[in-house]
Amino acid sequence: MPSDTIAAVASGMTASGIGIIRISGPEAFSILEKVFRPKRGANVREYKGNTVHYGHIVRGGSVRGDTVSGGTVSGSTVDGTVIDGSLRCSTVDGTVVDGTVIDECLVTIFRAPHSYTAEDTAEINTHGGVFVMQRVLDTVLSAGARAAEPGEFTKRAFLNGRIDLTEAEAVMDVISAKSDDALVSSLLQLSGSVRRRIEGLREKIMDELAFIEAALDDPEHYELSDYGETMLAHLAPVAAALRHLSGSFGEGHLIREGILTVILGKPNAGKSSLLNALSGEDRAIVTEIEGTTRDILEEQVRLGALSLRVIDTAGIRDAADRIEQIGIGRAKEYAARADLILALFDAATALDENDRGILELIKDKRAILLLNKSDLAPVTTPEMLQAVSGKETQVLTISAKDGSGLKELEEAVRALFFSGGLRMNEEAVITSARHKQAIDAALASYALLEESVQSGMPEDVYAIDLTDMYKRLGEVIGEDIGDDLADAIFSRFCMGK
Ligand code: GDP
Repeated sequence: MPSDTIAAVASGMTASGIGIIRISGPEAFSILEKVFRPKRGANVREYKGNTVHYGHIVRGGSVRGDTVSGGTVSGSTVDGTVIDGSLRCSTVDGTVVDGTVIDECLVTIFRAPHSYTAEDTAEINTHGGVFVMQRVLDTVLSAGARAAEPGEFTKRAFLNGRIDLTEAEAVMDVISAKSDDALVSSLLQLSGSVRRRIEGLREKIMDELAFIEAALDDPEHYELSDYGETMLAHLAPVAAALRHLSGSFGEGHLIREGILTVILGKPNAGKSSLLNALSGEDRAIVTEIEGTTRDILEEQVRLGALSLRVIDTAGIRDAADRIEQIGIGRAKEYAARADLILALFDAATALDENDRGILELIKDKRAILLLNKSDLAPVTTPEMLQAVSGKETQVLTISAKDGSGLKELEEAVRALFFSGGLRMNEEAVITSARHKQAIDAALASYALLEESVQSGMPEDVYAIDLTDMYKRLGEVIGEDIGDDLADAIFSRFCMGK
C-alpha cells in the first residue's frame, strides 16, 4: 500500500479554462491546509467528503496551529480577503498573517475510500494557465507532497483494490478513444466487463482444481478415476469462451486503434476531397508511423462511429512520373500494410490504365470500390466499374463534394470488419494485446490438459495445467503480476491520471 502523498497537474499542461492539481495520500488534507486559505473560516482537515470550498492558494503564509508574533492562527476563524496581491488573514484575536496569493481556487474534497485512488484526495481547481498551475503544484510540493509519476493515481486505485488491471487500462483507453465505438468499448471495460468475464471463467477452473486437490488429499471420500473426461466436459465451455474472447481481439483492436486505411485513386479522382469530407474539422490529429523506411503520416478520421487511420498518401503524389503518381511503387507498400483500401474512381471520366492498375493492385486485398463525383453527369457507371473490376465487390457511389454515400460507406466498412454487428454491446471484447497474450497462454495450458487426459496421465498432472490456466487469466486482471509489468503498464499513462 502506498504510504506517501503525491501531487500532479491532472488537467492538460496547456492554457485552458480550469487547471486541476490533484493531491492524493494520507497527508492530502494536512498538505492542503498549509496552502489553502478558505474564504469562510473552517477547519480544512475536517472538511466532509464530496464537498467544494472556495478560497485562495497561498505561499509562505502561516497555518492554523503555527505560532506567530502576537498570537496563534486559528484556521477555523480565519476571514480571508485579498489585499494588493497578498492575502491578509486576520484572526479574531487580531493577529495578521500574510502569505503570497498564487491564485483563487475551488477545492474539492474526497475522503478515503470514496475517491479515484481510494485515498484521501483533494483537487484544487485553479485558473488554467500553465504558469499558475505550475506555481500551485510547486507550492503543494513544497508543503510536503511528492511529484506523481505518470499514471500513479490510477496505479494507486489498482494497488488499493478499487479497480482491477483491465479497468485501470480502460481508463487510458477512454482518454485516448477517438470514435464512438472505441469509447463504448473502453467504457464497458472500465465498468468491469472484461474483469467479470475473466473472474467467472477463473472460478470454474478453480472449482476443478479444488476438487482434484481435495481428492488427492482425501482419496477415501473422493473418486478421481476417469475424472479427466468429466473435467474436460466441465471446462469445454470455459475453453470456448476463452477462444471467443481471444477471437474478439481482431475487432477490438480495430475498434481501439482504428482501421489502417489507404485511399488509392488516380490523380484528381478525389482522394484529398474524400479525406477532407471524412475528417471535417477534426483534421488536426496526425501521427507519425515509426519504423518505416521513410516516415509516413497517418490521420485519424471518424466514419460515423468508426475510426479510420488514413495513411496520408501525399508522398505518392509528389513523384514526378504520372504512373508513379498513382502509386505503383509506394502504394503497393502502403496497400500491403493497410487493413482496408478505399479505391477511388472518377465517375466523370472514363476508366483508364491508372484505374486498371489500381484494380490489379487491390485484387487480393480488403478493398471497397468507390465511384466518386456522383453529383456530376456520369461517364463511368457503377456497372461499368463492376465489369472492369471483375470483382464481386459492391461498388458504392459517393460524392466527396457533398458527402453523399458516406453513410453507406460506414455500413460497408462495418460489414467488412465487424461480423454480426457490434458484438461489444452484449459482451466483453478484448482490445489489448496483453490480454490476448494471457488468454492465449491459458488456452495453451488447456491444450496440454487435454493431452494429459487423452494420454492417461495421472490426475495430479491436471492440477499443474489447471493452476497455470488460472494464473494466466489472473494476469489479465492484474492478480500476482510483477512490479515490472505494473510499472510498464502505468508508465504509458498521462501525467496526473
Ligand atoms: P486527388 O488528386 O485524388 O486528391 O483529387 P482532389 O481531391 O484534389 O480532387 C480533384 C478535383 O475533383 C478537385 O477539383 C475537386 O474539387 C474535385 N472533386 C473531388 N470530389 C468531387 C465530387 O464528389 N464531386 C465533384 N463535382 N468534384 C469533386
